[in-house]
Amino acid sequence: MSLVVVGIFLLSGYSHSGYSSEGAKNEKTKCIAQLSLMERMAITHLNLYSLNSGDPVMPAVLVENGYISKLPVCPSGGNYSYTNKGPSGKKGSEPYASCDHKGHSYSPYQADKPKKNQPSPASEKTRKDKAKCAAQLSLMERLATAHCNINAMDPGSPLPSTALVNEGYIKKLPACPAGGNYSYTNKAPSGKKGATPYAHCDHKGHTYSP
Ligand SMILES: [Zn+2]
Ligand SMILES: [Zn+2]
Repeated sequence: MSLVVVGIFLLSGYSHSGYSSEGAKNEKTKCIAQLSLMERMAITHLNLYSLNSGDPVMPAVLVENGYISKLPVCPSGGNYSYTNKGPSGKKGSEPYASCDHKGHSYSPYQADKPKKNQPSPASEKTRKDKAKCAAQLSLMERLATAHCNINAMDPGSPLPSTALVNEGYIKKLPACPAGGNYSYTNKAPSGKKGATPYAHCDHKGHTYSP
């Protein structure tokens, strides 16, 4: 939903540039929307992994984590460059993604600026719980995969979740921040896209897929 809001914000903000042709204007709008999307995805990544602005965030990581299927391309043939660092998202700060095509400039705005349609604190907490839970499920998947790789285990071999604690990968098993119950396949994950996740949360909407 917030991406739609960003899109409308950009459309209304850039629809009065006048001099350029309709096609060039559309390309510019699309390019800037893409730059904005990359900014939002980089910030999402920071939030999910509890990183700080300035921490390394390579654009390829955003693809690997499945936020986007591939890196966007400027519709006018401009070249994209990235700071490769977690953006602050603050108004006037350096944008995470830039396009070198003339006029394709994007500048972050204060994402958390109070708005009329700002989500209520309750739904904000719901969203954060969900993001945190998904990050934890993802972490368990990656730890289980790491354990398999280190020990040359075949996918499907027995791997109780307690082994990940006993082996020292994590101090204790994570708990759903919204009170959902975690269950584990207790088998070495294949790590393949769409495979059954190693860890599962039964709280409504808390789905994670490798
Ligand atoms: Zn562009
Ligand atoms: Zn959960």
